[in-house]
Amino acid sequence: MQVRSYTQSGRAFAEACRVIPGGVNSPVRAFRSVGGKPVFVSRAKGSRLWDIDGNEYIDCIGSWGPMVLGHAPELVNEAIRAAAEQGVSYGLPTRQETRMAELLCAAYPCAEQVRMVNSGTEATMSAIRAARGFTGRDKILKFEGCYHGHSDCLLVQAGSGALTFGVPTSPGVPADVVKNTLVARYNDLASVEALAAANPGQIACIILEPIAGNMGLVPGQAGFLRGLRELCTREGILLIFDEVISGFRAAFGGAAQLYGIQPDMVCFGKIIGAGLPVGAYAGRREIMQCVSPAGPVYQAGTLAGNPLAMAAGYALLTHLRDHPEVYDQLNARGTQLADGLREILARRSIPASVAQAGSLLTLFFTPDLPGHFEQVMTCDTDAFARWHKAMLDAGVLLAPSQFEAIFLSAAHTAADIDFMLDAADTALAKTAFPR
Ligand SMILES: *Cc1c(COP(=O)(O)O)cnc(C)c1O
Repeated sequence: MQVRSYTQSGRAFAEACRVIPGGVNSPVRAFRSVGGKPVFVSRAKGSRLWDIDGNEYIDCIGSWGPMVLGHAPELVNEAIRAAAEQGVSYGLPTRQETRMAELLCAAYPCAEQVRMVNSGTEATMSAIRAARGFTGRDKILKFEGCYHGHSDCLLVQAGSGALTFGVPTSPGVPADVVKNTLVARYNDLASVEALAAANPGQIACIILEPIAGNMGLVPGQAGFLRGLRELCTREGILLIFDEVISGFRAAFGGAAQLYGIQPDMVCFGKIIGAGLPVGAYAGRREIMQCVSPAGPVYQAGTLAGNPLAMAAGYALLTHLRDHPEVYDQLNARGTQLADGLREILARRSIPASVAQAGSLLTLFFTPDLPGHFEQVMTCDTDAFARWHKAMLDAGVLLAPSQFEAIFLSAAHTAADIDFMLDAADTALAKTAFPR
C-alpha cells in the first residue's frame, strides 16, 4: 500500500485556522472527534473524491447526504448550467418553485403545501414556529440524540429529572429559550407518554428523525413511530418528521413511505438541493395556511427558492421519481457493506455492531445495536478514531465521528464495496481491539 501524504491539507488547514474559527465552516469537518486533521478537497466525481495532496478516496460522506447519485452527476450539472444562464437569483417568484413544490407534495402525502428555505436548520425552526402558531401552544418535544440543526430552542439535552425540560447544550443559548423544549428518549414511547401527561394541552409538536442519523444510525422502531402517531392524534399535538437525511433516500417518500406512517408536517434538506443549499418544510394545508403571507406566522427568505437550487433539486428528484431502481441499488449496496462488515466482526470476534437502513450505515464500537442516545454513548470512540484513520490511509473516506452515518450512493459499485470491505478487514485487524 502506498503511503499517503497529507502535507498540502495540513498547510491549508493552518491557513484556514487563521481566518475561520477552527478552520472550518461546520464543526464536524475539523476531524476533532477522531483526533485528526481535515483533508481539503480539490474535486469529486461519482463515488470518488480527491484531496489537494492528490490522494484518491472512495467517499462515504457524500456531503452528508445530498449525493445520492454520487458526486457531480451530469444531469444535475446540466440543470445548474442552464439555470445560471438565465440569471442566478431574482427575489421574485418563478414557475420552477411551483414545479418543485408540486413534486414534493406528490412525493409525500401529508405535504399539501410547502415552503422552500435555505437549510435544514431553517426548515425545522420554521416548521416549529408554524406548529406553535397553528396550535397556540408553546412547548415542543424532541429526542435526545436527534439533530435538527442549530437553532436555539433545539440545542438542548435532557435535564436531570425525567420530567424536566431540557438544558442548553451550547453557551449562547439562554436557559429561558429552551424552557419550552421537552426532551424524551428515542424509541421509548413511555418517556413521551410521561412528558405528555405532565404537560397536558401544552405541547405544540413532537419533532424527530424517524430514522435517526445524527447519533450514528439508529432507526426508529415501527411500534414507537406508530405510538407517537397515535399519541399526537389523541392529544392534538402535531407530529413533525425531520426527513432531512431520510427523505428521498430511505425511499422516494422517505421514512413516512417506508413505515407507512404520515406525520402532520415534514422537513426536508440536504438531498432536495442536490448539493446546493436548500431546505423545505411542508404539511397539511390548514397548518401551512398559517404561514405568512397566507396567515400570521412570519417566515421569509431573500434567497429562498433560489433558481439554481430549484433547478438542481428538481433535476435530481425527478430522476429519482422516474428511476425507482435507484433505491434497489442503494439498498443492495448498503446490504452488501453491512453483511460484509458483520462477517468481519464475527470472524475476528470484535465486539462491535452494524446498523443499516438502506444506503445508511454505522459501525458502532459497542457489541449491541444502540436504540437510543445513552446506548450510543457506550461506544469506544478511541477504537472508532483508530478505525477512521486506518480507513482514511487505505483510501476510504468515512465521516470523522462515531456519531455520523456512512452515506452510500448509486455511484458506489459492488467493486467499490468489495474494496471497502478489504480495507475494513485490515483496518479492524490492526486497530479495533485492544491496544
Ligand atoms: C443536517 C440536518 C439538519 C440541519 O440541516 P442544515 O442544512 O445543516 O442546517 C436538520 N435535521 C437533520 C436530520 C439533519 O441531518
